[in-house]
Amino acid sequence: MPTKKAGELVYSPLYDLSDYTHVLSAGKFRMLYDELKHERWNWHEPGIADEATLARVHTKKYLGDFLAARLSEKTMHAEVPIDDRIVEAVRAAAQGTVLAAELALKHGVASNLSGGFHHSFADHAEGFCFLNDVVIALRVLRQKRPGLKVAVIDLDVHQGNGTAVLLQNDENVYTFSMHEKDNYPVKQRSSHDVDLASGLGDAEYLKLLHENLEILREVFSPDLIFYVAGVDVYKDDALGGLELSMQGIAERDRYVKNFMPDVPIVTVPAGGYARNINDTVKLHAQTIRILHGII
Ligand SMILES: [Zn+2]
Repeated sequence: MPTKKAGELVYSPLYDLSDYTHVLSAGKFRMLYDELKHERWNWHEPGIADEATLARVHTKKYLGDFLAARLSEKTMHAEVPIDDRIVEAVRAAAQGTVLAAELALKHGVASNLSGGFHHSFADHAEGFCFLNDVVIALRVLRQKRPGLKVAVIDLDVHQGNGTAVLLQNDENVYTFSMHEKDNYPVKQRSSHDVDLASGLGDAEYLKLLHENLEILREVFSPDLIFYVAGVDVYKDDALGGLELSMQGIAERDRYVKNFMPDVPIVTVPAGGYARNINDTVKLHAQTIRILHGII
């Protein structure tokens, strides 16, 4: 149990999709909450993102289908079922990332227990991702803070393709994505992409992370970092082939935590599909504890 001061965590009972046993890892959000709920965190519960908030990123046509939970050309590429309950869960998660970002600006670090839906585009869903919560949060923050400079550090095993495209023309954003080359999705152009070979392992991964993040430091000074901390880089993940150990992922997270220690950072879980779901939950909890300086 942590003895240091609690950090700021965001969770809503609406995130709980553990009844969706047919959807890969859908139960992990509730399990992650159960893993952390007895520790000394400050819990914050988001509401549901309203349509005007979602429209800061997504097109009217796509939102028409999504909000009505309609299976269509726009929503079908999420490759997961869509119904009212899932729509509600995703809208709560998007509002959760908005809330976590605001908390991070105030307290230095905050984590949403869902979110990181980086394959979502303005006009369609893709790869388990309906709403691009990180870009939604950025656009909401900019209302009061125009010109806010944001770095997105995306270390999910899959490239943040939706995020890359949505933020391509924003000069006050730096998108960094380090991902497995021969894996989903079709790659888009981030500010800085690092394509990794399958089967890389801890040592080479950490070396490349170090070298490439230094380039970010040289060219960009963010006011806020979004850390898209996918744990599908894990060696026993069903959808990733980078072969990192739990210890290697801990070192990755520690490296990100210490990268720009004076810049507020918000974390979102993103992917994690270990063959044993308990490993996924353990890894997401490990990320949160490390980023908050608990371990
Ligand atoms: Zn992923």
